[in-house]
Amino acid sequence: MLYVFDAHCDALMTAREQGRTIWEESGEGQWDLPRARASGVACQVLALCSSREKGLSPLNQVLIGIADLYRALKEYPGAFVIREAADWGRLAGGNLGVLLALEGCDALEGSPELLEALYALGVRCLSLTWNLRNDLADGVGDETSGGGLTRLGRLVVREAARLGMVLDVSHLSTRGFWDAMEMNEGAWVATHSNCRALMDHPRNLTDDQIKAIAARGGVIGINFYPPFLTAAPQARIEDVVRHILYVAELVGPEHVGLGSDFDGIDVAPAGLEDVTKTPRLIKALDEAGLSQRELSLILWENWLRVFQRVV
Ligand SMILES: [Zn+2]
Repeated sequence: MLYVFDAHCDALMTAREQGRTIWEESGEGQWDLPRARASGVACQVLALCSSREKGLSPLNQVLIGIADLYRALKEYPGAFVIREAADWGRLAGGNLGVLLALEGCDALEGSPELLEALYALGVRCLSLTWNLRNDLADGVGDETSGGGLTRLGRLVVREAARLGMVLDVSHLSTRGFWDAMEMNEGAWVATHSNCRALMDHPRNLTDDQIKAIAARGGVIGINFYPPFLTAAPQARIEDVVRHILYVAELVGPEHVGLGSDFDGIDVAPAGLEDVTKTPRLIKALDEAGLSQRELSLILWENWLRVFQRVV
């Protein structure tokens, strides 16, 4: 079985909302540790997000997410957090490696020094915003303002790069994206964004943006959310394949991977409803004519290369 590295999933936060855990196999939601491991996922980036509508402070929400993960790892010994280079070797035993990502930096509450604490707890990937504006940058939802990275945003980028975190442009405004690309620091990627040329959605990347990420050695993780894939009423596995092939043809198979967004999306393509359907996607990619070498890059090696640059 081919190994799978998925660069984005919201299960950590969503499971709590749904009243389930990620260590027990569930019929609800799209992702949990047992289902992912049984489906060939060997490495998973789990996002920590926060919402201002939830009552608790963003930092409180993020720390609860981290606490839930460490509790889950006690209950499920088949998974572990990847925090340092030596941890990559533990994947060989068939265990599921988890990387923590902070999605939107609202939890910093204006204090970049908190990154050091979040790093110590295992955070190895960072995006400045979700769709809305915060004190670091504008998200795609604030596109009309024309805003990019703030002074504080640039400070956070430098601090994250110094600590050893992958930097994620998914959700960032257009101006924010190009501000990020102009910075010298940072291993920049898009963990869960698709191709604007195939589907005109503000969350998708233009050809120029895809080329800019590739030029920095980055990877674009293809998102399974139907509105990012197609204008058709029903998305299919072939639509995910189409976006993957598009990036591979535009900038090479070394720059595309998976960023499912499972448990962050309320609908999924037909046949790819949850993580257990991952083998179907692999089969569809195989049938689309990709070589074993290309498949290995897209499913596994590309994200490994990016994260091994900082971890
Ligand atoms: Zn997201």
